[in-house]
Amino acid sequence: MLESIHNIDVKAEIAKLKNLNCAEDDVFFQAMEEVLLSILPLFESDEFYTKMKSHSILKRLVTPDRIIKFKVTWFDDNQNVQVNMGYRVQFNNSLGPYKGGLRFHPTVNEGILKFLGFEQILKNALTGLPIGGGKGGSNFDPRGKSDFEIMKFCTAFMKELSKYIGPRIDVPAGDIGVGGREIGYLFSEYKKMTSSFEGVLTGKPSFFGGSVMRPEATGYGVIYFTRRMLELEGKESLEGKICTVSGAGNVALHAIEKLQQLGAIPVTCSDSRGTIYDARGVDLPLLKELKLQKRVSLEVYKEEHPEAEYIPVSQYPKEGHAVWTIPCYAAFPCATQNELTLLDANTLIDNGCHSVSEGANMPSTAEAVHTMLKSDMCLAPAKAANAGGVATSSFEMSQNASMSKWTRDEVDAKLEAVMIDICENVSATAKEYGVEGNYVDGANIAGFKRVSEAMMAETI
Ligand code: NDP
Repeated sequence: MLESIHNIDVKAEIAKLKNLNCAEDDVFFQAMEEVLLSILPLFESDEFYTKMKSHSILKRLVTPDRIIKFKVTWFDDNQNVQVNMGYRVQFNNSLGPYKGGLRFHPTVNEGILKFLGFEQILKNALTGLPIGGGKGGSNFDPRGKSDFEIMKFCTAFMKELSKYIGPRIDVPAGDIGVGGREIGYLFSEYKKMTSSFEGVLTGKPSFFGGSVMRPEATGYGVIYFTRRMLELEGKESLEGKICTVSGAGNVALHAIEKLQQLGAIPVTCSDSRGTIYDARGVDLPLLKELKLQKRVSLEVYKEEHPEAEYIPVSQYPKEGHAVWTIPCYAAFPCATQNELTLLDANTLIDNGCHSVSEGANMPSTAEAVHTMLKSDMCLAPAKAANAGGVATSSFEMSQNASMSKWTRDEVDAKLEAVMIDICENVSATAKEYGVEGNYVDGANIAGFKRVSEAMMAETI
């Protein structure tokens, strides 16, 4: 690691940026530190360094434009009033309208949304599309809520959020706990309030102007990226290979689907209560039925497939995750942040895993990333590998703006092209800056370059 360039004490500079606005936000600091350490090679150019400094680019980049915080009150099925917090972090709109998902999960707080919003700036920059970075959500827990309660909550949430969004201002999408059903409720409430049928959200159901393939886009995109990365790194293809996937939500389901289409054998999935290991390959139709229709625990999978193994969280390795103990050719963490620890990274390496592709946002801890980068495996970082979702959201914005509908083949071809382009750009950038094969640094440098160039051209 570089410790000093232009006589800057790198660690001291990072500490200063931390104190600027994020001393309390652990995950935000984790994300910020990774990016700042990656982009140091850029500072070796005197011209770049001088410009950066005079424009205070780093301080501006790690400070959100605004954080909107509001109360959400709604009636539960027993006619009791419930209270939650709602948030929207509008981080950076140098390249386009703020763009990023909404997360409904009890763990949501300002720090998590700042981390996700910050990652989103660079991810969106990597797509080459005109979208800025933002993120939002609520500490509302959708688990165990009736459909009516979900609708009441979404309606109440949009009553506040609607004041801050618009097709050219800020265009939220889904994330954990927010899928097509929730986006549909949010969109229809916005439409009622404003009498305007406009592309203010993406990931909408098709009849509200949603793009075909948006649900599939993140998961499929991860696999398109991985396929190209394995080719560029001279590794064998995914065909016929055992793969492990964590999560059982939108990203995981579609990563599993695309892996199966390519002839790979995904053998695991997980939710917050446990892991399924099905050595013959995951039964995807059953998984979709359990998670998308019945919305039940993965444990129920075993009722149909008694030969599969169900590992409850209580039996996970200490400081590790059951999914990563299964030997595999390629691993796909697709559930949530920090779900792949140092212990897991070492287990994957010991078991001969060739690549890890991050479908979830920042699923690997900093120590795990460091260890994987030192090994022979390829590591596809989230901000590059899972950018297919937001890219397709941008396609949805284009379709809404022109009141048109693209076909599935058109969207799929554009998605694949964007993912290949991101992969090749990240790989070439890593090579250009002397860190060949390091896709983490390559993604951070390429994303940072694009957004910082735009920021330097802005008025202050
Ligand atoms: P979903 O809500 O559809 O699925 C999330 C899955 O992860 C569920 O199986 C859930 O289990 C599990 N999970 C969530 N939190 C935890 C936790 N704390 N511990 C263990 N398991 C957990 O979300 P998505 O699939 O949409 O998102 C997954 C990841 O991908 C997130 O990191 C998200 O930010 C990222 N992402 C999503 C995009 C999208 O287009 N949807 C785009 C880019 C990134 P359970 O149901 O039991 O809670």
